[in-house]
Amino acid sequence: MRRVIIGLLAIIGLVTGLAWLSRDRLGEMVFNRAVEASYGKDATAGLPDGLHVILCGTGSPLPDPGRSGPCTMVLAGKQLFLVDAGAGAGRRIGEIGVPLGKIDATFLTHFHSDHIDGLGEVLMLRWAASGRKLPMPVHGPQGVDKVVSGLDTAYTADYGYRIAHHGADIMPRSGAGARAFTIAPGNGPHVVYNRAGVKITAFTVKHDPVEPAVGYRFDYKGRSVVISGDTAPTRAVSRMCNGCDVLVHEVLNPAMVGKISATAKAHGDRRIAKIMSDIPGYHSSPVAVAGIAREGKARMLVFTHIVPRMPSRLLHPYFLRGVAQAYSGTVVMGEDGMRFSLPARSEAIEQAELL
Ligand SMILES: [Zn+2]
Ligand SMILES: [Zn+2]
Repeated sequence: MRRVIIGLLAIIGLVTGLAWLSRDRLGEMVFNRAVEASYGKDATAGLPDGLHVILCGTGSPLPDPGRSGPCTMVLAGKQLFLVDAGAGAGRRIGEIGVPLGKIDATFLTHFHSDHIDGLGEVLMLRWAASGRKLPMPVHGPQGVDKVVSGLDTAYTADYGYRIAHHGADIMPRSGAGARAFTIAPGNGPHVVYNRAGVKITAFTVKHDPVEPAVGYRFDYKGRSVVISGDTAPTRAVSRMCNGCDVLVHEVLNPAMVGKISATAKAHGDRRIAKIMSDIPGYHSSPVAVAGIAREGKARMLVFTHIVPRMPSRLLHPYFLRGVAQAYSGTVVMGEDGMRFSLPARSEAIEQAELL
């Protein structure tokens, strides 16, 4: 018995030693396999015809390594749309496995920095990935042209470097950057995109002093998704939802943010105390959103733009206190990489995690 154990230990030692000595070759093998296995990955391939929502950023301006800045993708049939592009959005989309070159158009809800500070990166990655000859259409409320031309100015030098380096056939200048489409001002909801069965309706929300700020409703083959953008509680969202399948709504927990504000005050940090006491006024509490989901008869409520940062799922019950009493539908704390699929002309809502 002793001899067997000694023999086994010797074999294990020998194998471990050999593996250690050839660790560079093992690394090469693992790397090569990983490249082959992941190359050309497309998380949207094989999905049934319908409306699909992919969360590519569920965070806010507050730093959170687990959540990119605001970013929601909507795949409607074969058309892929992006709503907002916060910091890290492009990298997160790549990590999820959606080819950036497939994005057909972007819709911005408003111009707070956290909703646009990943847009330059998205435009660059889309251009490099696709070789498209036309820039990305970027729709948004009044002022979107300034955002687009500002980014264009900032990136002009880099456009030149890329073209010089890779050639104009790989990186056609005409496909760089974005082209702005301004949503006409107006109080009532209006259709801003209507093509191949996909209807996108913009509606004004309440994010004072940020004006204009809008949300979007997507309709495709009997399925619907409403994205609130940043807003204080407003009936505009419940009216637009009106029985929608999925309501993706921003959220801020005032008790938690209040605690941060009080702690800052106790430490004599008036700046942070003031900012933290200002922000709940133009966002929506979990219970208020639950009320909007109930009034709007949403079949599923997905929280995004989650403030403050949630370092652990163990905090979710506290964050969501009172929500179950206000809304009886399914509630999801959104996380980067979640996908919600609404197959065409059905009632189903299928949920998956892509990360
Ligand atoms: Zn925001
Ligand atoms: Zn905002």
